[in-house]
Amino acid sequence: MSPSLIEQNLAAVRRQMEHACQTSGRSHEDVQLLLATKTVSSEKLRLALQAGETLFGENKVQELRDKYPLLQEYKQAEWHFIGHLQTNKVKDVVKYATCVHSVDRLKLGQALHQQLEKENKAMDILVQVNTSYEESKFGVSPESALELIEQLSRLDTLRIKGLMTIGKWNASQDETRACFRLLKRIQAQAAGQHIAGVEMNVLSMGMSGDFPIAIEEGATLIRVGTRIFGERYVADDYYWNETLGYTIGD
Ligand SMILES: *Cc1c(COP(=O)(O)O)cnc(C)c1O
Repeated sequence: MSPSLIEQNLAAVRRQMEHACQTSGRSHEDVQLLLATKTVSSEKLRLALQAGETLFGENKVQELRDKYPLLQEYKQAEWHFIGHLQTNKVKDVVKYATCVHSVDRLKLGQALHQQLEKENKAMDILVQVNTSYEESKFGVSPESALELIEQLSRLDTLRIKGLMTIGKWNASQDETRACFRLLKRIQAQAAGQHIAGVEMNVLSMGMSGDFPIAIEEGATLIRVGTRIFGERYVADDYYWNETLGYTIGD
């Protein structure tokens, strides 16, 4: 049987990751690939699972819930939550995801903490930073990131593993690179504070259009959708910007 298009795309992305690691003197083992599966059908998701992929990310609680049973068939697979999260939706996220990349305010951290305490659990989180200063993007401002990390560190069910950002879009490579460099700088500052309970090993940055740059700038986890699953038919703003007045989903 010839490899599916998804397998071919995965192989191409892995080759590009390898190349970016080589040119920046990093080990390929230091960079994880997370498949961003928003709007991706179960059939396509299954092909990725059959190809041996283990790390998946969803943006919407509803989609996470719908696709979760499929992942359970594959014991090695886990979900991260990578989208904007409303405090009233934390229950399902705590249930299905092992890590939330998008903690960008204390209130959300507190809501997760409350739910986790109830269930006697702990969870990995990343702090999302708005390194592009675009109003359409979520994330704590770079100036407030350290304070937020410090506040979140007092919630003992949250294991702070690092930072996440979305690079600037339709921008020059230099502008995108500047976003990733800024995240790396905040990571170093936060690590230098030696806050109890805070690890700063994960840098989740880089998507289909910019992951080689992100790897060059120190990403340890890249989140790739389009390059593997093809174009989506829903504007990304639907996932990133609540002010546009969409009524479907949450
Ligand atoms: C959709 C999405 C991705 C993947 O984007 P692609 O351009 O399709 O690779 C990565 N991170 C987040 C937060 C996303 O919402």
